[in-house]
Amino acid sequence: MVYKKISHFLSGFPAARLTLCLLCGNHSDGNGICPPCAAELPWLQRACRHCALPLSAPAEVSGICARCLQQAPSFNTARAAWLYAFPIGQLVQRFKYRGDLAAGHSLAQLAAGPLRPTDKAPDLLAPIPLHWRRYWQRGFNQSQLIAAELGRQWHLPVHARLLRRVVAREAQLRLKRSQRLRNPEHSFAVCSPVEGRHIGLVDDVITTGATLEAAARALIAAGAAWVSAYALARTP
Ligand SMILES: [Zn+2]
Ligand SMILES: [Zn+2]
Repeated sequence: MVYKKISHFLSGFPAARLTLCLLCGNHSDGNGICPPCAAELPWLQRACRHCALPLSAPAEVSGICARCLQQAPSFNTARAAWLYAFPIGQLVQRFKYRGDLAAGHSLAQLAAGPLRPTDKAPDLLAPIPLHWRRYWQRGFNQSQLIAAELGRQWHLPVHARLLRRVVAREAQLRLKRSQRLRNPEHSFAVCSPVEGRHIGLVDDVITTGATLEAAARALIAAGAAWVSAYALARTP
């Protein structure tokens, strides 16, 4: 029983070509979303270069949102391909909660283009790990599958076990009271040397940024020189 389950754990998307568009059912070019549907997706055009928050007002000419101007996050840059809006939200949920790997694969394939690092490419990609219990239930870590596709297209290594979620009590014992109150849920341990390296964190969706913040903080504390973050989507 246990072995059967383990055999379903995936480190990358299964190779498959989708001939029909997931959204309209017409012919797709093999990545599961046809060009007309892809053109209508809520691509994130103007976003904060620190945290990928969508920027609307032309007043935000600095390219940095008000929150980051006040306090910059621990990661240096973050980018997301889409706004977390229809139909991206639905596709991400199909992928994460209903195990629809085709939906996840299509999104990762499409996102790899616009997210491709332009100036400084990371030395390696590291997915945000799931809590082991969730990983066990789901049989895959969505961020790891996305990282595998980005790494394939960008020719970058993926280190799936660079970060480990630290169980709450272990983390709490190591933190000062003030830190404990500020960041009760997310804590990560860095499992390999990262000194002087540029780490590309990969997550499926950036919501508050708290998870990325905790992961980046752990990497910087371990000596990482630069932390970039890549996600499929960003909530407004
Ligand atoms: Zn279509
Ligand atoms: Zn920002």
